[in-house]
Amino acid sequence: MRAEKNSVVSFHYSVRDAADAAAEPYDDSHQRGEPMLALLGHGQLVPGVEKALTGREAGETFTVDIEPAEAYGERQEGLLQRVPKKYFQDAQKLKPGMTTVLQTKDGGQRLVTVHKVGMTAIDVDHNHPLAGKTLHFEIEVTDVREAAPEELQHGHAHPGDGHSHG
Ligand SMILES: [Zn+2]
Repeated sequence: MRAEKNSVVSFHYSVRDAADAAAEPYDDSHQRGEPMLALLGHGQLVPGVEKALTGREAGETFTVDIEPAEAYGERQEGLLQRVPKKYFQDAQKLKPGMTTVLQTKDGGQRLVTVHKVGMTAIDVDHNHPLAGKTLHFEIEVTDVREAAPEELQHGHAHPGDGHSHG
């Protein structure tokens, strides 16, 4: 069957900066061993990847370049913030350009990119690390199936036959 809204698609992918063919991938599902699993039409994937998978069937391989607006958005100015080092678990190791998880005051966590490291504080950028980049995906569709009722209820894909979290 061909993938459409409410299909569950399994796929391997690697993604790199489209502007640099020699760049290391940002992410590669082969390194995790398991393919990515997603329920189409429920916001599990960035819009460009959803569109690229729609109409595909198991066994297809393809490449696609996805603009920022269909991936992680444009970079926004004004998202720099100076944060005391005590809010970082790994403050001593951080260098500009690295990403890290910031503990927020309300107990949550945010992925941020280090902009500058000072004596007592670190300037972080709240833009997504891939914001503003056109991304080059290489995708191999390994399986397409209809969603189980439980998956439609939950709004995400489950492994195996889809009836439970596995
Ligand atoms: Zn679930």
